[in-house]
Amino acid sequence: MDAEAIRREQTLVLLKPDAVARGLTGTLLERFEQAGLKIVALKMVHPTKEKAAGHYDGPDEWIRGMGQKTLDSFAEFDMDVETVLGTTDTYTIGTMVRGWLVDYIASGPIIAMVLEGVHAITAVRRMVGFTIPARAEPGTIRGDYSIDSNTLSSLEKRSTKNMIHASGDTEEAAQEIAYWFKPDETVSYQRADEIVMF
Ligand code: ADP
Repeated sequence: MDAEAIRREQTLVLLKPDAVARGLTGTLLERFEQAGLKIVALKMVHPTKEKAAGHYDGPDEWIRGMGQKTLDSFAEFDMDVETVLGTTDTYTIGTMVRGWLVDYIASGPIIAMVLEGVHAITAVRRMVGFTIPARAEPGTIRGDYSIDSNTLSSLEKRSTKNMIHASGDTEEAAQEIAYWFKPDETVSYQRADEIVMF
């Protein structure tokens, strides 16, 4: 990786319907901008279920991972997952969660953006924090602005409301940026503070 690639790493961020409906768009953009991340693409869209499903079209291991997170949380609170969801199979639970997630993302307008900056993918994931807001560290966006839990949301058969999606790795970022933005919708410019920040 050369210096330019590090400086110009790009990641996709979605402000989910709960973040937009709560009027937190500006606050969240400000956090990213203040951290030195540059907005290079931005749009508001109310996704169809098809569009939302295409975004969450991850591999089986991702589906199982969501199922596993659910099992872990139920175990932590001594709750019986089988009684609530009718199965203990991580793939079946993950598939259920994915369905709730697609409904959630398609439930209202979202903000899609591309952020660019030094190690942007990792930096943004760290700022966003752990998937389950009730267990996300204070100081992270999910920890500071949300409180939902996946045990509660599973009982209510809905997705955990955690405000933000951010790409997990380089491959995912490239794929997700291309999914939400045409090449000519991404811009290139210099921010005035870059010269002193890195
Ligand atoms: P992250 O968004 O932190 O990368 P995942 O990719 O594992 O997390 O999950 C995608 C999204 O699915 C989460 O952001 C959350 O909105 C929702 N979700 C994940 N796990 C659960 C769950 N067990 N119950 C309900 N919703 C969930």
